[in-house]
Amino acid sequence: MKQEQVLNFNAGPSALPEAVLQQAAEAIINYNNTGLSILSIPHRGDLFVAILEESKALVKELCGLSDDYEVMWLQGGGRLQFCMVPMNFLRQNETAGYIDSGHWAAEAIDAAKHYGTTGVLASSREDNYTHLPQWPESVDKGLRYLHFTTNNTIYGTQWPSIPASDVPLVADMSSDIFSMQRDYTNCAMFYAVAQKNLGAAGNTLVVVRKDFLERVHPGLPPMLDYKVHAEKNSLLNTPPVFGIYVSLLMLRWIKEKTIAVIEKENRAKAAMLYAEIERNALFHAAVDADSRSLMNVVFHGRSKEMEKQFLECCAGRGIVGIEGHRSVGAFRASLYNGMPLAGVEKLVSVMHEFEQSGG
Ligand SMILES: *Cc1c(COP(=O)(O)O)cnc(C)c1O
Repeated sequence: MKQEQVLNFNAGPSALPEAVLQQAAEAIINYNNTGLSILSIPHRGDLFVAILEESKALVKELCGLSDDYEVMWLQGGGRLQFCMVPMNFLRQNETAGYIDSGHWAAEAIDAAKHYGTTGVLASSREDNYTHLPQWPESVDKGLRYLHFTTNNTIYGTQWPSIPASDVPLVADMSSDIFSMQRDYTNCAMFYAVAQKNLGAAGNTLVVVRKDFLERVHPGLPPMLDYKVHAEKNSLLNTPPVFGIYVSLLMLRWIKEKTIAVIEKENRAKAAMLYAEIERNALFHAAVDADSRSLMNVVFHGRSKEMEKQFLECCAGRGIVGIEGHRSVGAFRASLYNGMPLAGVEKLVSVMHEFEQSGG
């Protein structure tokens, strides 16, 4: 079946570009005409080390980072990063700042409480995260770090930029990395799970500035120690070879397209869908206009019954994955880099027809 026959708006794992899927499929049978499957190459051999090195170089190039940063591929997803960040950088008698802007931001705070004190510097929880909280005007310089989530995948809000910070800034960029031009150098560290905008589930990109890495507390088990992973070049244990290869294919695809063009398309896709939600009497946006995400568009229908009918209508038109997260309900359309403009055009035309047909 051709990919275009089903339009996939899932939030993650999510749609990948056709060209990436094609190359990944070929590599499973015969990787680069080596006669070997990518699933069977040794992780310490030249073939995989070349994949690793190219992926690291591309991350630095696309983010505009110098050799002051270490690039790693780790496992355990975003959830393990929520633990590893405080494990490595926070002690019981120390405090880290957190911005509480949504579900995943709050999960990161809960995880950090096991290791030290968390100061929540801003939160929009009281308003059910329907807008971004106010970024703190001043931050205590004694904080070990300040953690925030660039894009709130479930609630559909997104920070427009990465602010400069007096304390080391740690960013969870899982659902919007490489979706727009960003000042990555304002971060002491950032991480992103692969399954949203950067490949398949199984590997997580972790980037840490070397001077921040020097602050890692000693005495951690090696598998949980960023310094050890950096020293071992992400080869402490057997890494997810195939997943890292798929991420490399994504990185090459992003480089070829350029982030400037990707950003332009992402802005056009989101603008088109939000405009239809505003225009169409059957739908309304869940998020305040100045906080809306380009990646995850969250919206409601006029009634529960109408929402159910619209989902059925979409299913009949080959549109999948627009159900909202189980904690929010209604709809969420994820417009990651792999979703073409034509896909959003199709969704908008189905919304339009649904309105015409009487909802
Ligand atoms: C999906 C997501 C996570 C969690 O990723 P897992 O790999 O399921 O642990 C964390 N943060 C953000 C912003 C996400 O979108």
